[in-house]
Amino acid sequence: MSHPVHSIMIRALLLVAALAPAVAGAQTSTASSDVEVLEASDIRWTGRITYEVAPGDTLGEIAEEYGVTVEEIRRWNNLRSDRINVGQSLVIRTRSSSSGTERVRTTYTVRSGDTGSAIARRHGVSVAELQRWNRNTNLDRLRIGQDLVVYVEDSGSGSTGSPQRGRLRGGVALESGTGFRVRNAERAYGTPSTVSFIRNGIARVTARYVEVPDLMVHDLSFARGGRMTPHASHQNGLDADITYFRTGVQDVCSWQDVEPRELDARLQWYLFRTWIELGVVEYIFVNFELQQPIYDYALARGASVEQLDEWFEYPERGSSGVIRHEAGHDDHFHIRFRNVQ
Ligand SMILES: [Zn+2]
Repeated sequence: MSHPVHSIMIRALLLVAALAPAVAGAQTSTASSDVEVLEASDIRWTGRITYEVAPGDTLGEIAEEYGVTVEEIRRWNNLRSDRINVGQSLVIRTRSSSSGTERVRTTYTVRSGDTGSAIARRHGVSVAELQRWNRNTNLDRLRIGQDLVVYVEDSGSGSTGSPQRGRLRGGVALESGTGFRVRNAERAYGTPSTVSFIRNGIARVTARYVEVPDLMVHDLSFARGGRMTPHASHQNGLDADITYFRTGVQDVCSWQDVEPRELDARLQWYLFRTWIELGVVEYIFVNFELQQPIYDYALARGASVEQLDEWFEYPERGSSGVIRHEAGHDDHFHIRFRNVQ
């Protein structure tokens, strides 16, 4: 299955466009018609600030706030561990805004419960930057529906390195949406395309069928990617762990072992097919035994054996297929999306 990147992109955009009504109300408007390019930060550190540790702070939160890593803070301050004390001064390096990669201007519409720091964190920028871009806005008194300007790193260079050793730039937070809930917001960042494929793919199932239970989306990647235990991959915004559709579930399909007879093959097939036909899937890990009901359902609904051969490892163990066995995937499937830019 190889598709020229531009055709993948066009089909991806068509899906997104086709789904627009189903996802109306999506909160982050990354208005591509309104794109301006700003010369912005590179990996060069040019400035520094002194941060005084406040009660309740952790290195991880401070790192996130300033868009740096815990390792970097430790290195700049010669810290031997992650322990910090209230009142301690930490040096945080900041980046220049004059060389290297581009940032793209987007607008973000404030929602109920938003704070300036949460919005900054979600976009991988600092509160100071957010304030600078919105000079006349009091970030402590945000109004619902108000638009904020956010310059995000150009998503064109979203994913770098490999899923096993990679980073994520301009990562977008996947927030709970139509047909799914996100378990842990901090661990749910992906490339803009990964996030929209998940959102729109699941929304499409709910648009087609009635009484579809919510799926639970577990880990994608951290805001800036990098190692995420216990996974080997999940490092550059292309991977996601998602629960299976189970029959007889009213509310949410939680993370638990699923027997082949419990799997809702109809919904599962429709979801997988949506993504695979779009040409955006690298592979999907599904336990071998769980592939059977989905395969059988697809066959009964008229899919050809040749087509299913390309899509499933089942029925021949060890053969290739987009949907393939990898141990440990009886309580969730793992999908790796292609790096579509
Ligand atoms: Zn996974």
